[in-house]
Amino acid sequence: MPFDFDLITLGAGSGGVAASRRAAAHGARVAVIEGSRVGGTCVIRGCVPKKLLMYAAQLGDALREAPHYGWSPAALSFEMARWAAAKAAETARLEGVYRQLLEGSKVELVEGWARITGPHTVEVAGRQLTGKHLLVATGASPSRDAIEGLAGAATSDDLLDLTALPDRMAVVGGGYIAVEFASIVARLGVQVSLFYRAGLPLRGFDEDLRQRLAPALEAGGIRLMGAVPVRVQQQGATFLLHMADGTVHEYPFVLNATGRRPNTRGLGLETLGIEVDAQGAVPVDEQLRTSAQGVHAIGDVTHLKNLTPVAIAQGRTLADALFGGRPLRPLDLVNAASAVFTLPPIGTAGLNEAQALAAGHRLKIYEADFRPMRQAFYGGSERSYMKLVVDADTDLVLGIHMLGADAPEIVQSLSVALTCGATKQDFDHTLAVHPTAAEEFMLMREPARVVERISTMMSPM
Ligand code: NDP
Repeated sequence: MPFDFDLITLGAGSGGVAASRRAAAHGARVAVIEGSRVGGTCVIRGCVPKKLLMYAAQLGDALREAPHYGWSPAALSFEMARWAAAKAAETARLEGVYRQLLEGSKVELVEGWARITGPHTVEVAGRQLTGKHLLVATGASPSRDAIEGLAGAATSDDLLDLTALPDRMAVVGGGYIAVEFASIVARLGVQVSLFYRAGLPLRGFDEDLRQRLAPALEAGGIRLMGAVPVRVQQQGATFLLHMADGTVHEYPFVLNATGRRPNTRGLGLETLGIEVDAQGAVPVDEQLRTSAQGVHAIGDVTHLKNLTPVAIAQGRTLADALFGGRPLRPLDLVNAASAVFTLPPIGTAGLNEAQALAAGHRLKIYEADFRPMRQAFYGGSERSYMKLVVDADTDLVLGIHMLGADAPEIVQSLSVALTCGATKQDFDHTLAVHPTAAEEFMLMREPARVVERISTMMSPM
C-alpha cells in the first residue's frame, strides 16, 4: 500500500528533529508532528534556558570577585524580568532556526497533537497521515504526583518563565534539576532550602562527588534539609511542607523537581498493542524497536538515559539504519559523559567507583583536591575535585569525575580518551597545559588508594 510518508515522527524535540532531518537527507519523505513549540524540552524549557540562567548566576559571581582583581565595586542588581525577556527572544530565535532547518531539509512540519489510530496511521488536526515507519519521540514532562499536594507547586518549566524571583524557595528533589536550580537561584539571591530523601543529593553519582557537592551547595547558601515532606499544603499564596516528624515549613514558592515522566498519554499506543512500563515509558530493544511492527521510539519517552545528546544520537543512528542501509550500532551509554550545572558544576563520564567495583574490578583511585588559582588569589573557598577510577590490573581508565569550575567542558574532552580505551599511563604520557585546572588530570602520580575487588566467595567458617 502506498504511504503518504516514509517516516512520521511524533515530536519535534532534539531527537525527533535529528531523526527526521537525517532520514530526509537519505531521501525519505518525512513528516514531523509537534503540538507545542518546535525544539522541545531542551531548547524551549530545559537545557538552553537553564544554562542561560546559570550564566546570569555566574556573572553575579564574577561581579562579586571582580573587586579582588582590582576592579572598582559596581552597584549592579539582577532583574529576572530583563533576563526573562532576553530568554524569550533567544528561545524564539532558536525555534525559528529549528523550523528553518526542517524546511531546508524538506521535512514537513505538521502542527497539532498526534494520535496513532491504527497501523501506520496517525491523526493530527483532523488529518489522517500514513507512514511506513512511525517514530515516537515525544519526550517527557515533570512528574507531579510524587508527594501528596505537590501538584500545585511550580516545575522547572514554570520557574524558567518567572518574571520575578521569590525571596525564599523550597526545592523538593535531589536529582539534576533540583540541585541545578537550587544552585542557580541561590546565587541570584533566593534563600533556598533543598528537600531530598537520599542521604546526599544526586543519588547514582560517584560518592566522592556527592560528599563534596553537599558542602559546596551549603557554601552557596543552600540549606540542606535531608528529608522530603510527606504532604504539601497550599494555603493562599503560601505552601506548607508537612514533615514526617510533625514539623511544618512555610514557603512562598515550591519547586517540584521529583523527576520526569514520559509523554505517552493520549498517543494511542494501545491501538497498536504497545504497553508502556510503570513509569509510562515506551519499552524498546537495542534496535530502538517497540513491540509493534514499524514503530520505533527514541529519547526521553523511552526513559533509558534522559539526555539530549542520547536522543539525537539515537535519532540519527536509527535514520541511518532505516534509510541509509547502515546497521544500527547501539550507543555506548556507559561511557556517555554528562554534566550537572550546579555552581560549581559536575562533569562525569564512565563508571563511578561503586559501579566499577560492582562490575568486578580491582581499582586504583587517583584524586586531586585543590583550591583553583582564581579562588586562591583572593582567599575564596571554592575547591575543585578530580577523580580517575582505574582498573588496577589492566591500567584502563574506567571513569572520570570532576566537581569544580569548568568540569563539564573538561570532562567532555576527556571522555574521548575513555571512548578510545585510554590507560592511566596514557594520561601520564600526556603533556599538561599550564596553568590550567585540567592539567591536574595529567599530574596524578600515586593512587590515593587501592580498592580490592569485591569478593563474591563466602569466607570459610
Ligand atoms: P532525577 O531523576 O534526576 O531526580 C529526581 C529526584 O526526585 C531524585 O532526587 C529522587 O529521589 C526524587 N524523587 C522522586 N520521587 C520522589 C518521591 N516520591 N519522594 C521524594 N523524592 C522523590 O529527575 P530530574 O527531574 O532532576 O531530571 C529528569 C532527568 O532530566 C534527569 O534524570 C536527567 O536525565 C535529565 N536532566 C539532565 C540534565 C543535565 O544533563 N544537566 C539537567 C536536567 C535534567 P531519589 O534519588 O531518592 O530517588
